Amino acid sequence: MKFRILLVAFFTISILSCKTEQKNETKPKLVVGIVVDQMRYDYLTRFYNRYGEGGFKRLMNHGFLATNANFDYVPTYTAVGHTSIYTGTTPQSHGIISNNWYDKYENKFIYCVDDANYQSVGIKGLAGQKSPYRMQTTTITDELKLAQNQRGKTIGVAIKDRSSILPAGHTADAAYWYQGGDDNKFITSTFYMDSLPQWVNDFNSNKKADGYLSKPWETLYDINTYTSSIADDNRYERPFQGEEKPVFPHDLPKLRKENGNYSIISSTPFGNSLTLDFAIAAIEGESLGKSEFTDFLAVSFSSTDYVGHQFGPDAVEIEDTYLRLDKDMESFLNYLDQNIGKGNYTVFLSADHGAVQVPSYLQSLKIPAHYFNILNYKTHITNELKTRFGSGDFIENVSNFQIFLNKKELKRRRLSVDEVSDFLVEVSINYNGIYKAITAKTLQETEFSSGILHKIQQGYNQKYSGDVILVPLPSTLGGSRQGTSHGSGYSYDTHVPILFYGNGIKQGKSSEPYFIRDIAPTLATLLKVEFPNGTTGKVIAEALK
Ligand code: ZN
Ligand code: ZN
Repeated sequence: MKFRILLVAFFTISILSCKTEQKNETKPKLVVGIVVDQMRYDYLTRFYNRYGEGGFKRLMNHGFLATNANFDYVPTYTAVGHTSIYTGTTPQSHGIISNNWYDKYENKFIYCVDDANYQSVGIKGLAGQKSPYRMQTTTITDELKLAQNQRGKTIGVAIKDRSSILPAGHTADAAYWYQGGDDNKFITSTFYMDSLPQWVNDFNSNKKADGYLSKPWETLYDINTYTSSIADDNRYERPFQGEEKPVFPHDLPKLRKENGNYSIISSTPFGNSLTLDFAIAAIEGESLGKSEFTDFLAVSFSSTDYVGHQFGPDAVEIEDTYLRLDKDMESFLNYLDQNIGKGNYTVFLSADHGAVQVPSYLQSLKIPAHYFNILNYKTHITNELKTRFGSGDFIENVSNFQIFLNKKELKRRRLSVDEVSDFLVEVSINYNGIYKAITAKTLQETEFSSGILHKIQQGYNQKYSGDVILVPLPSTLGGSRQGTSHGSGYSYDTHVPILFYGNGIKQGKSSEPYFIRDIAPTLATLLKVEFPNGTTGKVIAEALK
Protein backbone atom coordinates (compact mmCIF):
# COMPACT_ATOMS: atom_id res chain seq x y z
CA MET A 1 0.00 0.00 0.00
CA LYS A 2 2.72 2.41 1.06
CA PHE A 3 4.71 1.44 -2.01
CA ARG A 4 1.73 2.18 -4.31
CA ILE A 5 1.22 5.63 -2.83
CA LEU A 6 4.89 6.33 -3.25
CA LEU A 7 4.78 5.11 -6.83
CA VAL A 8 1.77 7.31 -7.69
CA ALA A 9 3.44 10.27 -6.01
CA PHE A 10 6.63 9.62 -7.94
CA PHE A 11 4.82 9.52 -11.29
CA THR A 12 2.72 12.58 -10.51
CA ILE A 13 5.80 14.57 -9.56
CA SER A 14 7.71 13.50 -12.65
CA ILE A 15 4.79 14.30 -14.98
CA LEU A 16 4.32 17.70 -13.34
CA SER A 17 7.99 18.60 -13.45
CA CYS A 18 8.22 17.44 -17.06
CA LYS A 19 5.23 19.62 -17.95
CA THR A 20 6.65 22.75 -16.28
CA GLU A 21 9.98 22.19 -17.93
CA GLN A 22 8.36 21.97 -21.35
CA LYS A 23 6.38 25.11 -20.74
CA ASN A 24 9.39 27.14 -19.67
CA GLU A 25 11.28 26.00 -22.71
CA THR A 26 8.61 26.62 -25.27
CA LYS A 27 6.42 29.59 -24.61
CA PRO A 28 6.47 32.96 -22.91
CA LYS A 29 4.02 33.64 -20.09
CA LEU A 30 3.64 37.19 -21.33
CA VAL A 31 4.28 38.96 -24.61
CA VAL A 32 4.78 42.71 -24.33
CA GLY A 33 4.34 44.56 -27.61
CA ILE A 34 5.79 48.06 -27.48
CA VAL A 35 5.10 50.62 -30.20
CA VAL A 36 6.87 53.96 -29.81
CA ASP A 37 4.84 56.50 -31.75
CA GLN A 38 6.90 58.38 -34.38
CA MET A 39 10.21 56.69 -33.40
CA ARG A 40 12.69 57.13 -36.24
CA TYR A 41 15.40 54.46 -36.43
CA ASP A 42 18.14 57.04 -35.87
CA TYR A 43 16.85 57.79 -32.35
CA LEU A 44 18.57 54.52 -31.41
CA THR A 45 21.89 55.54 -32.94
CA ARG A 46 21.92 59.33 -32.48
CA PHE A 47 21.34 59.16 -28.74
CA TYR A 48 23.06 55.78 -28.21
CA ASN A 49 25.88 57.13 -26.07
CA ARG A 50 23.39 58.93 -23.86
CA TYR A 51 21.29 55.84 -23.08
CA GLY A 52 21.82 53.74 -19.95
CA GLU A 53 22.65 50.02 -20.12
CA GLY A 54 19.22 48.83 -18.97
CA GLY A 55 16.78 50.41 -21.45
CA PHE A 56 17.04 50.60 -25.26
CA LYS A 57 20.64 49.34 -25.08
CA ARG A 58 19.56 46.21 -23.23
CA LEU A 59 17.10 45.40 -26.03
CA MET A 60 19.67 46.29 -28.74
CA ASN A 61 22.61 44.38 -27.28
CA HIS A 62 20.92 41.40 -25.66
CA GLY A 63 18.01 40.95 -28.06
CA PHE A 64 17.66 40.96 -31.84
CA LEU A 65 17.92 44.25 -33.74
CA ALA A 66 16.88 44.73 -37.38
CA THR A 67 18.74 47.83 -38.51
CA ASN A 68 17.12 48.07 -41.94
CA ALA A 69 13.42 47.68 -41.23
CA ASN A 70 10.88 49.78 -43.10
CA PHE A 71 7.23 50.37 -43.76
CA ASP A 72 6.54 49.46 -47.37
CA TYR A 73 3.26 51.30 -47.87
CA VAL A 74 1.76 54.78 -47.92
CA PRO A 75 0.35 56.48 -45.85
CA THR A 76 2.55 56.15 -42.78
CA TYR A 77 0.06 57.25 -40.12
CA THR A 78 -0.59 56.01 -36.59
CA ALA A 79 -3.65 53.79 -37.10
CA VAL A 80 -2.18 52.25 -40.23
CA GLY A 81 1.17 51.58 -38.54
CA HIS A 82 -0.28 49.92 -35.46
CA THR A 83 -2.63 47.81 -37.60
CA SER A 84 0.14 46.70 -39.98
CA ILE A 85 2.41 45.68 -37.09
CA TYR A 86 -0.27 43.51 -35.51
CA THR A 87 -1.93 42.12 -38.67
CA GLY A 88 1.26 41.33 -40.58
CA THR A 89 -0.03 43.03 -43.69
CA THR A 90 -0.66 46.45 -45.26
CA PRO A 91 -3.76 48.61 -45.96
CA GLN A 92 -4.20 46.67 -49.22
CA SER A 93 -5.55 43.82 -47.07
CA HIS A 94 -6.36 45.11 -43.58
CA GLY A 95 -8.47 48.07 -44.71
CA ILE A 96 -7.20 50.71 -42.24
CA ILE A 97 -6.13 53.12 -44.98
CA SER A 98 -5.48 56.15 -42.73
CA ASN A 99 -6.42 57.63 -39.33
CA ASN A 100 -9.36 59.46 -40.90
CA TRP A 101 -10.59 58.90 -44.42
CA TYR A 102 -13.45 59.59 -46.76
CA ASP A 103 -15.80 56.61 -46.65
CA LYS A 104 -17.30 56.45 -50.13
CA TYR A 105 -20.09 54.11 -48.99
CA GLU A 106 -21.22 56.32 -46.11
CA ASN A 107 -20.38 59.53 -48.06
CA LYS A 108 -18.62 61.05 -45.10
CA PHE A 109 -15.26 61.52 -43.46
CA ILE A 110 -14.76 58.84 -40.80
CA TYR A 111 -12.31 58.09 -37.98
CA CYS A 112 -10.71 54.61 -37.94
CA VAL A 113 -12.05 53.37 -34.57
CA ASP A 114 -15.33 55.29 -34.21
CA ASP A 115 -18.31 52.99 -33.66
CA ALA A 116 -21.67 54.43 -32.58
CA ASN A 117 -22.92 50.94 -31.72
CA TYR A 118 -21.01 51.14 -28.43
CA GLN A 119 -20.99 53.50 -25.46
CA SER A 120 -18.29 55.08 -23.30
CA VAL A 121 -17.20 53.28 -20.16
CA GLY A 122 -15.69 55.32 -17.33
CA ILE A 123 -16.80 58.67 -18.69
CA LYS A 124 -19.86 60.49 -20.04
CA GLY A 125 -19.87 61.59 -23.68
CA LEU A 126 -18.73 60.05 -26.94
CA ALA A 127 -15.00 59.45 -26.31
CA GLY A 128 -15.58 55.77 -25.58
CA GLN A 129 -17.74 54.98 -28.62
CA LYS A 130 -15.02 52.94 -30.27
CA SER A 131 -14.25 49.50 -31.65
CA PRO A 132 -11.81 47.86 -34.10
CA TYR A 133 -14.56 46.81 -36.55
CA ARG A 134 -13.11 48.63 -39.56
CA MET A 135 -9.98 46.47 -39.35
CA GLN A 136 -10.85 43.67 -41.78
CA THR A 137 -8.26 41.03 -40.86
CA THR A 138 -7.14 39.35 -37.63
CA THR A 139 -4.22 40.41 -35.46
CA ILE A 140 -1.50 38.33 -33.82
CA THR A 141 -3.38 38.98 -30.57
CA ASP A 142 -6.54 37.45 -32.11
CA GLU A 143 -4.61 34.41 -33.35
CA LEU A 144 -3.13 33.83 -29.89
CA LYS A 145 -6.63 33.95 -28.43
CA LEU A 146 -7.97 31.52 -31.06
CA ALA A 147 -5.07 29.12 -30.56
CA GLN A 148 -5.59 29.06 -26.78
CA ASN A 149 -9.36 28.59 -27.11
CA GLN A 150 -9.99 32.12 -25.80
CA ARG A 151 -7.79 31.61 -22.74
CA GLY A 152 -4.91 33.94 -21.95
CA LYS A 153 -5.65 37.65 -21.71
CA THR A 154 -5.04 40.47 -24.19
CA ILE A 155 -4.94 44.05 -22.93
CA GLY A 156 -4.23 47.21 -24.96
CA VAL A 157 -2.85 50.37 -23.32
CA ALA A 158 -2.05 53.80 -24.83
CA ILE A 159 -2.80 57.47 -24.58
CA LYS A 160 -4.35 57.35 -28.07
CA ASP A 161 -7.52 55.26 -28.51
CA ARG A 162 -6.50 53.90 -31.93
CA SER A 163 -3.07 52.83 -30.63
CA SER A 164 -4.71 50.73 -27.94
CA ILE A 165 -7.76 49.38 -29.79
CA LEU A 166 -6.23 48.21 -33.08
CA PRO A 167 -3.25 46.27 -31.60
CA ALA A 168 -5.45 44.55 -29.00
CA GLY A 169 -7.54 43.13 -31.85
CA HIS A 170 -11.13 41.94 -32.19
CA THR A 171 -10.95 39.44 -29.33
CA ALA A 172 -9.28 41.66 -26.70
CA ASP A 173 -10.31 41.49 -23.04
CA ALA A 174 -9.81 45.25 -22.90
CA ALA A 175 -8.28 48.28 -24.56
CA TYR A 176 -7.78 51.38 -22.42
CA TRP A 177 -6.78 54.87 -23.47
CA TYR A 178 -6.33 58.23 -21.80
CA GLN A 179 -8.93 60.94 -21.62
CA GLY A 180 -7.20 64.23 -20.70
CA GLY A 181 -9.00 67.57 -20.55
CA ASP A 182 -10.55 67.96 -17.11
CA ASP A 183 -11.11 64.18 -16.80
CA ASN A 184 -7.67 62.61 -16.29
CA LYS A 185 -8.93 59.04 -16.70
CA PHE A 186 -8.15 55.86 -18.56
CA ILE A 187 -11.39 54.81 -20.23
CA THR A 188 -12.78 52.14 -22.55
CA SER A 189 -15.82 51.13 -24.62
CA THR A 190 -18.81 48.82 -24.07
CA PHE A 191 -17.28 46.83 -26.93
CA TYR A 192 -15.13 45.31 -24.17
CA MET A 193 -17.07 45.63 -20.90
CA ASP A 194 -19.91 47.42 -19.13
CA SER A 195 -17.93 48.97 -16.29
CA LEU A 196 -14.29 49.61 -15.45
CA PRO A 197 -12.55 47.01 -13.25
CA GLN A 198 -11.69 48.09 -9.72
CA TRP A 199 -7.97 48.37 -10.50
CA VAL A 200 -8.72 50.93 -13.26
CA ASN A 201 -10.96 52.94 -10.91
CA ASP A 202 -8.20 52.83 -8.32
CA PHE A 203 -5.67 54.04 -10.88
CA ASN A 204 -8.01 56.81 -12.02
CA SER A 205 -8.40 58.10 -8.48
CA ASN A 206 -4.65 58.29 -7.84
CA LYS A 207 -2.78 61.54 -8.28
CA LYS A 208 -0.06 60.35 -10.69
CA ALA A 209 -0.80 62.86 -13.46
CA ASP A 210 -0.98 65.70 -10.93
CA GLY A 211 2.44 64.68 -9.69
CA TYR A 212 3.92 64.83 -13.19
CA LEU A 213 2.30 68.21 -13.86
CA SER A 214 3.27 69.76 -10.54
CA LYS A 215 6.65 71.02 -11.72
CA PRO A 216 8.18 72.48 -14.91
CA TRP A 217 9.56 70.18 -17.62
CA GLU A 218 13.29 70.72 -17.37
CA THR A 219 15.97 68.79 -19.22
CA LEU A 220 17.03 65.59 -17.47
CA TYR A 221 20.71 66.56 -17.74
CA ASP A 222 22.49 69.92 -18.13
CA ILE A 223 21.08 71.44 -21.33
CA ASN A 224 24.61 72.10 -22.63
CA THR A 225 25.14 68.35 -22.94
CA TYR A 226 22.39 68.04 -25.60
CA THR A 227 24.90 68.31 -28.45
CA SER A 228 23.00 65.97 -30.81
CA SER A 229 20.20 68.54 -31.05
CA ILE A 230 19.96 72.04 -32.52
CA ALA A 231 19.85 75.14 -30.28
CA ASP A 232 16.86 75.12 -27.93
CA ASP A 233 15.64 78.50 -29.15
CA ASN A 234 14.91 78.31 -32.89
CA ARG A 235 12.11 79.15 -35.34
CA TYR A 236 11.37 75.56 -36.43
CA GLU A 237 9.53 74.53 -33.26
CA ARG A 238 6.02 75.33 -32.08
CA PRO A 239 5.85 76.73 -28.54
CA PHE A 240 3.05 75.69 -26.15
CA GLN A 241 0.04 78.04 -26.08
CA GLY A 242 1.02 80.88 -23.75
CA GLU A 243 4.76 80.44 -24.31
CA GLU A 244 6.75 83.10 -26.15
CA LYS A 245 9.55 80.79 -27.16
CA PRO A 246 9.82 77.00 -27.55
CA VAL A 247 12.45 76.73 -24.82
CA PHE A 248 13.15 74.99 -21.51
CA PRO A 249 11.94 75.06 -18.84
CA HIS A 250 8.35 74.46 -19.97
CA ASP A 251 6.32 75.66 -17.02
CA LEU A 252 3.66 72.91 -16.94
CA PRO A 253 1.79 74.09 -13.80
CA LYS A 254 1.29 77.45 -15.50
CA LEU A 255 0.79 76.19 -19.08
CA ARG A 256 -1.72 73.41 -18.43
CA LYS A 257 -4.69 75.78 -18.23
CA GLU A 258 -4.13 77.13 -21.75
CA ASN A 259 -3.16 73.74 -23.19
CA GLY A 260 -6.15 71.55 -22.37
CA ASN A 261 -5.45 71.02 -18.67
CA TYR A 262 -4.51 67.31 -18.25
CA SER A 263 -4.14 66.94 -22.03
CA ILE A 264 -0.82 68.78 -21.87
CA ILE A 265 0.75 65.66 -20.37
CA SER A 266 0.44 63.98 -23.81
CA SER A 267 2.91 66.50 -25.25
CA THR A 268 5.56 65.85 -22.61
CA PRO A 269 7.70 62.77 -21.80
CA PHE A 270 5.52 62.31 -18.70
CA GLY A 271 2.67 61.02 -20.89
CA ASN A 272 4.91 58.00 -21.53
CA SER A 273 5.62 57.63 -17.80
CA LEU A 274 1.89 57.74 -17.07
CA THR A 275 1.30 55.09 -19.77
CA LEU A 276 3.94 52.88 -18.15
CA ASP A 277 2.36 53.36 -14.71
CA PHE A 278 -0.95 52.22 -16.18
CA ALA A 279 0.64 49.28 -18.05
CA ILE A 280 2.16 48.01 -14.79
CA ALA A 281 -1.18 48.50 -13.02
CA ALA A 282 -2.74 46.37 -15.81
CA ILE A 283 -0.18 43.57 -15.32
CA GLU A 284 -0.95 43.54 -11.59
CA GLY A 285 -4.71 44.12 -11.83
CA GLU A 286 -5.18 41.37 -14.42
CA SER A 287 -2.42 39.06 -13.04
CA LEU A 288 -0.81 38.94 -16.49
CA GLY A 289 1.94 36.36 -16.95
CA LYS A 290 0.75 34.27 -14.02
CA SER A 291 -1.39 31.58 -15.66
CA GLU A 292 -0.46 28.55 -17.75
CA PHE A 293 -1.55 30.46 -20.87
CA THR A 294 0.30 33.22 -22.71
CA ASP A 295 -1.02 36.72 -22.05
CA PHE A 296 -0.42 39.68 -24.36
CA LEU A 297 0.03 43.30 -23.28
CA ALA A 298 0.03 45.74 -26.23
CA VAL A 299 1.49 49.06 -25.07
CA SER A 300 1.93 52.14 -27.23
CA PHE A 301 3.86 55.22 -26.12
CA SER A 302 2.08 58.13 -27.81
CA SER A 303 3.84 61.13 -26.26
CA THR A 304 6.89 60.75 -28.50
CA ASP A 305 4.54 61.58 -31.40
CA TYR A 306 3.00 64.67 -29.78
CA VAL A 307 6.43 66.02 -28.82
CA GLY A 308 7.74 65.17 -32.30
CA HIS A 309 4.92 67.04 -34.07
CA GLN A 310 5.40 70.11 -31.93
CA PHE A 311 9.19 70.37 -31.86
CA GLY A 312 10.58 68.15 -34.67
CA PRO A 313 13.27 65.44 -34.68
CA ASP A 314 16.20 67.83 -34.06
CA ALA A 315 14.82 69.52 -30.94
CA VAL A 316 16.28 69.29 -27.45
CA GLU A 317 12.72 68.35 -26.44
CA ILE A 318 12.88 65.17 -28.57
CA GLU A 319 16.30 64.18 -27.24
CA ASP A 320 15.08 64.71 -23.68
CA THR A 321 11.90 62.73 -24.37
CA TYR A 322 13.94 59.74 -25.59
CA LEU A 323 16.43 59.94 -22.71
CA ARG A 324 13.49 59.85 -20.31
CA LEU A 325 11.75 57.06 -22.24
CA ASP A 326 15.02 55.09 -21.99
CA LYS A 327 14.77 55.39 -18.19
CA ASP A 328 11.13 54.29 -18.29
CA MET A 329 12.08 51.35 -20.51
CA GLU A 330 14.75 50.33 -18.00
CA SER A 331 12.32 50.33 -15.11
CA PHE A 332 9.76 48.43 -17.22
CA LEU A 333 12.27 45.68 -18.05
CA ASN A 334 13.41 45.50 -14.42
CA TYR A 335 9.78 45.21 -13.35
CA LEU A 336 9.20 42.36 -15.83
CA ASP A 337 12.33 40.56 -14.57
CA GLN A 338 11.12 40.72 -10.99
CA ASN A 339 7.45 40.03 -11.52
CA ILE A 340 7.21 37.77 -14.58
CA GLY A 341 10.74 36.41 -14.37
CA LYS A 342 13.72 36.66 -16.71
CA GLY A 343 13.17 34.32 -19.64
CA ASN A 344 9.43 34.12 -19.04
CA TYR A 345 8.48 37.04 -21.25
CA THR A 346 9.07 38.20 -24.81
CA VAL A 347 9.22 41.86 -25.81
CA PHE A 348 9.12 43.42 -29.23
CA LEU A 349 9.59 47.10 -29.91
CA SER A 350 8.86 49.01 -33.09
CA ALA A 351 7.29 52.26 -34.28
CA ASP A 352 4.18 53.13 -36.26
CA HIS A 353 6.07 55.53 -38.59
CA GLY A 354 8.98 57.98 -38.47
CA ALA A 355 8.88 61.71 -39.22
CA VAL A 356 10.46 64.24 -41.56
CA GLN A 357 12.94 66.77 -40.20
CA VAL A 358 11.16 70.13 -40.11
CA PRO A 359 11.06 71.25 -43.81
CA SER A 360 11.82 74.91 -42.93
CA TYR A 361 14.93 73.66 -41.07
CA LEU A 362 15.97 71.51 -44.06
CA GLN A 363 15.45 74.54 -46.35
CA SER A 364 17.82 76.54 -44.13
CA LEU A 365 20.44 73.84 -44.89
CA LYS A 366 19.71 74.08 -48.68
CA ILE A 367 18.12 70.59 -48.69
CA PRO A 368 15.04 70.45 -50.97
CA ALA A 369 11.91 70.62 -48.79
CA HIS A 370 8.43 71.97 -49.42
CA TYR A 371 5.08 73.10 -48.09
CA PHE A 372 2.07 72.01 -50.09
CA ASN A 373 -1.27 73.79 -49.91
CA ILE A 374 -3.95 71.20 -50.59
CA LEU A 375 -6.73 73.81 -50.92
CA ASN A 376 -4.87 75.62 -53.71
CA TYR A 377 -4.34 72.29 -55.43
CA LYS A 378 -8.03 71.42 -55.14
CA THR A 379 -9.02 74.79 -56.64
CA HIS A 380 -6.58 74.20 -59.49
CA ILE A 381 -7.94 70.76 -60.45
CA THR A 382 -11.54 71.96 -60.08
CA ASN A 383 -10.84 74.75 -62.57
CA GLU A 384 -9.05 72.41 -64.96
CA LEU A 385 -11.95 69.94 -64.83
CA LYS A 386 -14.37 72.76 -65.59
CA THR A 387 -12.35 73.88 -68.61
CA ARG A 388 -12.15 70.35 -69.97
CA PHE A 389 -15.55 68.84 -69.11
CA GLY A 390 -17.76 71.85 -68.29
CA SER A 391 -19.09 72.84 -64.89
CA GLY A 392 -20.05 70.04 -62.58
CA ASP A 393 -19.45 68.62 -59.15
CA PHE A 394 -16.85 66.06 -60.28
CA ILE A 395 -14.89 65.70 -57.07
CA GLU A 396 -16.39 64.19 -53.95
CA ASN A 397 -13.35 64.50 -51.71
CA VAL A 398 -9.59 65.14 -51.68
CA SER A 399 -7.78 63.79 -48.61
CA ASN A 400 -4.64 61.84 -47.70
CA PHE A 401 -3.30 62.71 -51.20
CA GLN A 402 -6.17 60.78 -52.80
CA ILE A 403 -8.94 62.06 -55.05
CA PHE A 404 -12.40 60.50 -54.75
CA LEU A 405 -14.52 61.16 -57.84
CA ASN A 406 -18.26 61.78 -57.73
CA LYS A 407 -19.44 58.69 -59.62
CA LYS A 408 -23.08 59.82 -59.82
CA GLU A 409 -22.12 63.10 -61.47
CA LEU A 410 -19.83 61.32 -63.93
CA LYS A 411 -22.60 58.90 -64.84
CA ARG A 412 -25.09 61.72 -65.32
CA ARG A 413 -22.69 63.38 -67.75
CA ARG A 414 -21.76 60.10 -69.45
CA LEU A 415 -18.11 60.48 -68.49
CA SER A 416 -16.04 57.44 -67.63
CA VAL A 417 -14.05 57.23 -64.39
CA ASP A 418 -10.99 56.25 -66.44
CA GLU A 419 -11.22 59.30 -68.71
CA VAL A 420 -11.51 61.74 -65.82
CA SER A 421 -8.84 59.95 -63.73
CA ASP A 422 -6.35 60.00 -66.62
CA PHE A 423 -7.01 63.70 -67.12
CA LEU A 424 -6.40 64.36 -63.39
CA VAL A 425 -3.09 62.46 -63.51
CA GLU A 426 -1.96 64.66 -66.40
CA VAL A 427 -3.04 67.86 -64.67
CA SER A 428 -1.53 66.83 -61.33
CA ILE A 429 1.88 65.79 -62.59
CA ASN A 430 2.32 69.28 -64.03
CA TYR A 431 1.39 70.86 -60.71
CA ASN A 432 4.22 72.23 -58.58
CA GLY A 433 5.04 69.92 -55.65
CA ILE A 434 3.51 66.73 -57.08
CA TYR A 435 6.12 64.09 -57.86
CA LYS A 436 3.90 61.26 -59.08
CA ALA A 437 0.23 60.70 -59.80
CA ILE A 438 -1.37 57.37 -60.60
CA THR A 439 -4.88 56.08 -61.24
CA ALA A 440 -6.55 53.33 -59.23
CA LYS A 441 -6.95 51.42 -62.47
CA THR A 442 -3.19 51.31 -63.07
CA LEU A 443 -2.70 50.07 -59.49
CA GLN A 444 -5.19 47.29 -60.16
CA GLU A 445 -3.65 46.24 -63.46
CA THR A 446 0.08 46.58 -62.82
CA GLU A 447 2.21 44.90 -60.16
CA PHE A 448 4.97 47.19 -58.89
CA SER A 449 7.79 45.32 -57.20
CA SER A 450 9.89 48.19 -55.86
CA GLY A 451 10.10 51.94 -55.36
CA ILE A 452 7.53 54.47 -54.30
CA LEU A 453 4.79 53.02 -56.56
CA HIS A 454 5.19 49.64 -54.83
CA LYS A 455 4.53 51.41 -51.53
CA ILE A 456 1.52 53.20 -53.02
CA GLN A 457 0.23 49.83 -54.20
CA GLN A 458 0.67 48.23 -50.77
CA GLY A 459 -1.28 51.11 -49.26
CA TYR A 460 -4.01 51.03 -51.88
CA ASN A 461 -7.20 49.18 -51.00
CA GLN A 462 -9.45 48.54 -53.97
CA LYS A 463 -12.58 48.74 -51.83
CA TYR A 464 -11.81 51.86 -49.79
CA SER A 465 -9.15 53.97 -51.52
CA GLY A 466 -9.61 56.89 -53.94
CA ASP A 467 -9.55 57.03 -57.74
CA VAL A 468 -6.33 58.99 -58.20
CA ILE A 469 -3.36 58.78 -55.82
CA LEU A 470 -0.79 61.58 -55.56
CA VAL A 471 2.80 61.51 -54.32
CA PRO A 472 4.32 64.83 -53.26
CA LEU A 473 8.04 65.62 -53.56
CA PRO A 474 10.34 64.45 -50.73
CA SER A 475 10.23 66.42 -47.45
CA THR A 476 6.84 67.98 -48.19
CA LEU A 477 4.33 68.97 -45.50
CA GLY A 478 1.08 70.87 -45.54
CA GLY A 479 0.45 73.69 -43.11
CA SER A 480 2.64 75.24 -40.43
CA ARG A 481 6.35 76.09 -40.79
CA GLN A 482 6.82 75.06 -37.17
CA GLY A 483 6.92 71.44 -36.11
CA THR A 484 6.66 68.39 -38.32
CA SER A 485 4.58 65.41 -39.46
CA HIS A 486 4.70 62.09 -41.34
CA GLY A 487 2.65 60.06 -43.81
CA SER A 488 4.87 59.62 -46.88
CA GLY A 489 6.72 56.63 -48.34
CA TYR A 490 10.12 58.30 -48.07
CA SER A 491 12.75 56.78 -45.80
CA TYR A 492 12.43 59.38 -43.03
CA ASP A 493 8.85 58.13 -42.53
CA THR A 494 9.46 54.42 -43.22
CA HIS A 495 12.74 53.54 -41.47
CA VAL A 496 12.03 52.46 -37.88
CA PRO A 497 13.46 50.01 -35.32
CA ILE A 498 12.42 46.39 -35.00
CA LEU A 499 13.68 44.86 -31.75
CA PHE A 500 12.88 41.46 -30.24
CA TYR A 501 13.99 40.43 -26.77
CA GLY A 502 13.54 37.59 -24.28
CA ASN A 503 11.92 34.15 -24.45
CA GLY A 504 12.50 32.44 -27.81
CA ILE A 505 14.69 35.24 -29.22
CA LYS A 506 18.23 34.76 -30.48
CA GLN A 507 20.66 37.56 -29.72
CA GLY A 508 21.81 39.24 -32.91
CA LYS A 509 21.72 42.11 -35.33
CA SER A 510 20.88 42.17 -39.02
CA SER A 511 20.98 44.70 -41.83
CA GLU A 512 18.79 42.52 -44.08
CA PRO A 513 15.82 44.46 -45.46
CA TYR A 514 12.80 43.58 -43.30
CA PHE A 515 9.32 45.05 -43.28
CA ILE A 516 7.00 45.94 -40.45
CA ARG A 517 4.52 43.33 -41.64
CA ASP A 518 7.18 40.70 -40.80
CA ILE A 519 6.71 41.27 -37.04
CA ALA A 520 3.37 39.42 -36.69
CA PRO A 521 4.34 36.22 -38.58
CA THR A 522 7.63 36.13 -36.61
CA LEU A 523 5.71 36.33 -33.34
CA ALA A 524 3.20 33.73 -34.58
CA THR A 525 6.08 31.34 -35.29
CA LEU A 526 7.56 31.97 -31.84
CA LEU A 527 4.17 31.41 -30.18
CA LYS A 528 3.35 28.40 -32.41
CA VAL A 529 0.03 29.90 -33.51
CA GLU A 530 -1.45 30.59 -36.95
CA PHE A 531 -0.50 33.74 -38.85
CA PRO A 532 -3.08 36.55 -38.84
CA ASN A 533 -5.45 35.79 -41.72
CA GLY A 534 -4.29 38.54 -44.10
CA THR A 535 -0.54 38.14 -43.46
CA THR A 536 1.72 39.10 -46.35
CA GLY A 537 4.90 39.47 -44.26
CA LYS A 538 7.55 36.79 -43.78
CA VAL A 539 9.18 35.27 -40.71
CA ILE A 540 12.39 36.95 -39.50
CA ALA A 541 13.96 33.52 -38.98
CA GLU A 542 17.34 34.79 -37.78
CA ALA A 543 15.66 36.42 -34.76
CA LEU A 544 14.25 33.12 -33.47
CA LYS A 545 15.95 30.37 -31.46
ZN1 ZN B 1 1.85 57.76 -34.87
ZN1 ZN C 1 1.83 61.76 -35.63
